[in-house]
Amino acid sequence: MHHRRLIDPIALSEATERIVARRRIDEGLDRRYWRFRGGRWYGGIATADAVGCCLRCVFCWSWRIRDNPYTGVFYSARDVWVKLTDICVRRGYSQVRVSGCEPTIAFDHLEELIGLFDSDRRYLFVLETNGILIGAYKEYAERLSRFKKLHVRVSIKGCNSEEFSMLTLADPRGFELQLNALKNLIDEGVSCHPAVMLSFSDSTSRYKLLDRLKSIDDRLVEDFEEEYVFLYPHVEVKLREYGLKPRIAFKPNYIPEDLI
Ligand code: SF4
Repeated sequence: MHHRRLIDPIALSEATERIVARRRIDEGLDRRYWRFRGGRWYGGIATADAVGCCLRCVFCWSWRIRDNPYTGVFYSARDVWVKLTDICVRRGYSQVRVSGCEPTIAFDHLEELIGLFDSDRRYLFVLETNGILIGAYKEYAERLSRFKKLHVRVSIKGCNSEEFSMLTLADPRGFELQLNALKNLIDEGVSCHPAVMLSFSDSTSRYKLLDRLKSIDDRLVEDFEEEYVFLYPHVEVKLREYGLKPRIAFKPNYIPEDLI
């Protein structure tokens, strides 16, 4: 059993940003990335894997990179835009995303990146986020609202604050920030839906969460996405370490070599 101090996700975001982001002389903000790839998710999506997160999810597939934030190379938003566009053109994709991290850390960088894609409207930007910062700072939702081809997928960790804390090692109050992200996005008219990690939840907590989502907006229940753990070997190691047994999980049929 681990007894450690709970993470303060806001403080961790700030500390992480100082490592994974760097101001250039021209004021632009670069961020560390470690990989650019195509992928079969969502029927084909160009993906940039960046470094750094403000949670410590026990089931995180990118925990090795996450816990070594000095890895990767600094890229400007324009560099990332060029690389992702190139993948889309070569593979015929129409969607892009940043993964393996929390993209809203170094928000100026993210905003510039989404802006570059939004200006030519060719590709849909899928923002996958844990929502902590969007929940804490309404201004972020407002800044996202000016983009036309953006959809935000808020990845909710468990169905309540206890599950959230057990799964993310963070202060349970972070769960409210996740839900508040959905509220802020809806208030600002940003297209969004919740994807909820349900591997460790029972049906009672799931129904209670659905009630809470309904009280924010009916659409959150209609668009509710279920998420389950992928049992990569390096993820199973972590689950064992923390004594967590998923009720439902997927066995991946291929293992990305660079994650082992
Ligand atoms: S929020 Fe995502 S990137 Fe961050 S620790 Fe959790 S699973 Fe990993």
